Amino acid sequence: MRKLVVATRNRKKWQELAALLADLPVEVLGLDAFPGAPEVEETGETFADNARLKAVAAARHTGHWAIADDSGLEVDALGGRPGVYSARFAGPGATDAANNELLLKLLDGVPPEKRRARFRCAIAIASPSGETWVDEGVCEGIITDAPRGDGGFGYDPLFLVPELGKTFAEMGETVKNRISHRARALSLARERLMRLWRLPEGTSVL
Ligand code: IMP
Repeated sequence: MRKLVVATRNRKKWQELAALLADLPVEVLGLDAFPGAPEVEETGETFADNARLKAVAAARHTGHWAIADDSGLEVDALGGRPGVYSARFAGPGATDAANNELLLKLLDGVPPEKRRARFRCAIAIASPSGETWVDEGVCEGIITDAPRGDGGFGYDPLFLVPELGKTFAEMGETVKNRISHRARALSLARERLMRLWRLPEGTSVL
């Protein structure tokens, strides 16, 4: 059976990916199974660059195919910030609360029609020989003027999906995982993997 290494130490992400690939004839391994895997600095200017850096490092270290993601929030009124700095918007090691507070402060007084934003997720697949492929998923929304809901993580309480009239933090995990940037990117990455590995047709696609 083919092996695929998920280049993350984040258990939740690892499980989400493993679940999505569960019906494929693929053995999904975490980076934990490979002691000494290097910590990769996210020095890229785009989500795609960072995902590629992580996937290539994992493939090189393990000698197996690897998959990695990178994601964040792009706010139009802030010229696309925080972007690749989403996790550390309010400074290195910033909490979700501090990041959210800063975002609200920077958007103070900005009217609803100018509060457009999107979550973006890039997923990179790397072969053992160093070739890479990247897929992206986006989810469009509006930044609210106060937090709403207590589900999810990160910027979820501030990210309103207009079609549903709910923030990511209000809609519950099942709905979020159907429409999120990550779900969309994962679905494309999954199809790409099936093509790259010529996996049998008929395996259900989400
Ligand atoms: P990473 O892909 O784990 O590096 O995520 C980067 C950062 O983007 C996170 O720390 C969050 O601040 C933000 N982010 C990415 N995806 C989401 C999401 O689904 N909800 C809320 N925040 C997110």
